[in-house]
Amino acid sequence: MQGKVRKSDNHWVVTLFLVNNQKEPEQNRDAAWVFQPELVVESPDSKPIFLRRSKLRNPGKIDPFAYMEELSMAMLYRRHVEFAVGHGVAVNAETDPADVTQAVRVRTRVIPVYDVPKTTPPDAKDIPALGSVVLGMKDLAETPDAEFSQKLGALADAYEEWIKRQQAKVTDPAEGLMGFEEAAKESLSRCSAALKRIREGLELIRTDPTAAEAFRFANMAMHLQRTHTLAAEAKRRGETVDWNKFETTEKPSWYPFQLAFVLLNLPSLTDLNHPDRTEIRNATADLLWFPTGGGKTEAYLGLTAYTIAIRRLQGVVEGRSGEDGIAVLMRYTLRLLTIQQFQRATVLICACEHIRRQPGNERKWGKTPFRVGLWVGYRTTPNTTDQSAESVKQAHGHFWHGGGLGSPAQLRTCPWCGSEINPGRDVKVEIYGQGRGRTLIYCGDPLGQCLFTPKNSPKEGLPVLVVDEEIYRLVPSLIIATVDKFAQMPWKGETQMLFGQVNGLCPRHGFRSPEIEDTDSHVRRGDFPATKTIEHAPLRPPDLIIQDELHLISGPLGTLVGLYETAVDELCSWTVKGKRVRPKVIASTATIRRAQDQVSSLFLRNVAVFPPSGITIEDNFFSLQREPSEENPGRRYMGICGSGRRLKAALIRVYVTFLAASQQLYEKYGTQADPWMTLVGYFNAMQELGGMRRLVDDDVRTRLQETDRRGLAKRRTPKLEELTSRRASTDIPQVLELPEAVFDPALEAKRQAERKAGQKTTSPYPIDVLLATNMLSVGVDVKRLGLMVVGGQPKATAEYIQATSRVGRSRPGLVCTVLNWARPRDLSHYERFEHYHATFYQHVEALSVTPFAPRAIDRGLSALLVSLIRLAGIDFNPNDGATVVKWDHEFVKRAIETIASRAELVLGSKQAGDDIRNELKHRLDYWLAQAAMKTGGSRLGYQERKDGLTRGLLQQPTLGRWEQFSCLNSLREVEPTVNLVVDDGNFDDEPAVAQPAPTSGGLSS
Ligand SMILES: [Zn+2]
Ligand SMILES: [Zn+2]
Repeated sequence: MQGKVRKSDNHWVVTLFLVNNQKEPEQNRDAAWVFQPELVVESPDSKPIFLRRSKLRNPGKIDPFAYMEELSMAMLYRRHVEFAVGHGVAVNAETDPADVTQAVRVRTRVIPVYDVPKTTPPDAKDIPALGSVVLGMKDLAETPDAEFSQKLGALADAYEEWIKRQQAKVTDPAEGLMGFEEAAKESLSRCSAALKRIREGLELIRTDPTAAEAFRFANMAMHLQRTHTLAAEAKRRGETVDWNKFETTEKPSWYPFQLAFVLLNLPSLTDLNHPDRTEIRNATADLLWFPTGGGKTEAYLGLTAYTIAIRRLQGVVEGRSGEDGIAVLMRYTLRLLTIQQFQRATVLICACEHIRRQPGNERKWGKTPFRVGLWVGYRTTPNTTDQSAESVKQAHGHFWHGGGLGSPAQLRTCPWCGSEINPGRDVKVEIYGQGRGRTLIYCGDPLGQCLFTPKNSPKEGLPVLVVDEEIYRLVPSLIIATVDKFAQMPWKGETQMLFGQVNGLCPRHGFRSPEIEDTDSHVRRGDFPATKTIEHAPLRPPDLIIQDELHLISGPLGTLVGLYETAVDELCSWTVKGKRVRPKVIASTATIRRAQDQVSSLFLRNVAVFPPSGITIEDNFFSLQREPSEENPGRRYMGICGSGRRLKAALIRVYVTFLAASQQLYEKYGTQADPWMTLVGYFNAMQELGGMRRLVDDDVRTRLQETDRRGLAKRRTPKLEELTSRRASTDIPQVLELPEAVFDPALEAKRQAERKAGQKTTSPYPIDVLLATNMLSVGVDVKRLGLMVVGGQPKATAEYIQATSRVGRSRPGLVCTVLNWARPRDLSHYERFEHYHATFYQHVEALSVTPFAPRAIDRGLSALLVSLIRLAGIDFNPNDGATVVKWDHEFVKRAIETIASRAELVLGSKQAGDDIRNELKHRLDYWLAQAAMKTGGSRLGYQERKDGLTRGLLQQPTLGRWEQFSCLNSLREVEPTVNLVVDDGNFDDEPAVAQPAPTSGGLSS
């Protein structure tokens, strides 16, 4: 043992080393090695002599908002103290049972382990008052107006009681809040503000019959959504579905936080003149913050159902119909996530349709079907109905390669009943010339009982729209889009229809706008009668924007989303009772820091995080951290760091061990061991994943043949799949289903018998190894997965949390992080493993978006100007409308003011607004000069046409000089890509430099 002791103000810093000085013999060298040694340090009398390692930062040096957040975090985590840090090893501290801020013993750990507690909503056992709150969706759907307070009032009362109890704690010395009084006061005032809003929501449904009706509708739709989701899942697994079982035993109900979040948002979704809709600076965007898998989606699906219902009940407002048009715009960042969410949202819309089609209900809910549109396009879904027809023709029933056109077959099974959808048989395309210009997707239920079979829904099929052109014509109630797709706004005049800008209705084809193919009259054709376009006023614009996974809107993508949001926000705005009304914005995430900055820059709104944190991380009333136990297992994290060994070598051994150990459990316990039978291998980079793929096929496979010699079980050649951006978009719906296949000896035996008999197997083969990159960390939801091996510490804590939260959703999860000792950052994570995991939400990185930064302006300002002028109405909407733009037109003046004032407010500087205004005028000058040039009879269009006459105002982005009106096609392709030759030596080889020797710090108290 060697050591070093230094005295500090009122404590000692002690560093200890274990040095192996033995001489290594020529033979049997390992006789002189020391395997997994541990040091334990304690006081001879076992007193709690170990104290906190670090202190808070000095407030003088950072900005006050950042300091306040840091202080609040320090308050929340005040009971999670770090006592020691390892050197080339991890540490564990045993705290004093009487005071967790002191420790009695510290020890080194070669394989550190930490159980991250589960955070779950409370029930009546935790908070008895919740016992009298009615959370059942069906029950609420059948509640008369007058009874809402009686059924839901207790929720607000219980929350109020809880707030009072927390307030009393602030001055209680046992709570350890000294120095945190201000942070505690601020936290609790946010709780009180949320409580006030919950009560306002309750009051609304008690007193406003329209709101009450829409609330009942939302509850019924959510009830049906839940029961049908469960039934369809069971059917996909091959079970016989007993509907009564799902109706009666499952009793779909809300978690208190979901219901509270729904309630507090009702007033702003109902009253168009609510401050959240009319204030420019002080509107509130609500951010739902809950751990992954906790039920965020359901909360905002509930609000979606309410919003589409209240619009229909409110009918025509200011001359605009609420029956048609998009009510809710739901946005995601990645297409993978988008498609999975689309499948979930479709069940909700099917439920809404089910309600609307009940006898007598059309009078209340309207003649227009509720529909959901998937607006992603670009190689995932078709842009036009003709492309959709072509894709169906090419596919011949095998849909997974749509020939680059995108595929309309985004649903593999019926969301409503779980029956298979066979693209060759169940997808029908009726092109514009021959019919309505529709792509119809039917349920393939062989018994024909489902509501969405050709028999029961002949002209409509499932209420989904997956072709861009059809989305414009039919403007579905709900649209699911990628943020990226909004780059289309300046390029495509028809996108104005998403914001309600239509100028007619063709009874055969749907709404019209200058850039949509249609004519004023059609002759009779087959079953379709002769028709004439009728005039139509603009539709009510979207009422609600939902931004999922807010933490992904960051960096260059986030910055451009923020800039384009200026146009989206304005185009969704309209005038009601003389006031400008904006859409309501809701966002969600599981990991966020500095949310106010981000929301303000992106949406120009204040943020209200729900549930607001209380005064400890363990309890905010709506969610409780459960002490890891048999009943409430946490997610277990385990660190492996093979000092002196290559990461590759460590990974091979870890994979082999987990695969063989789970196999042994499987042989003993059967399908009970299923959650740990699929090993999810997570990688930070594609090339590392590719390396592992080769290793699984080779080293891992070979070693698994001999694992029985080490007391584990042998395992067959692993079936391997990957979930990465290398997969074609059209593969994704299928790939997402693969990990759902379970390990089950009975199914296995059945498959074997089927194979022997030469039959098609009736159940899918489960995956042994699923390799994934950060595509997995954004919302892939496969409940059975329980085991993950992370290869190298991910760059960001947010990503680490998001990725590892994918396992252990239904059973205890196990995450093994294999750290690379040759990377200082990895090593540091290993050395502080337990404390880092105890507080990892505190380590989430703050994000930055800077929509009006000079480089963002270069890339996006013209797009914004064109979008606002072109999509504001009909006047300049057609492609050649670019020619007739005038300085003094209302649309032009408003576009300039909208952008300039947004810049001024976001940046908090009048000068910045003036600069933008000048820049816009400069660009408009250029535009008008282009429009005035009529050489050779040519004219200006937004896009160049191949007619030899139409010059394009908008230029495609090129690698060369960026012109004034060069315009992005995608918000991701911000800068041209540069090809690099990447040497993956880093992953495979020994480091060039030796590990640095420890200098100071060390195992200290
Ligand atoms: Zn069906
Ligand atoms: Zn038509």
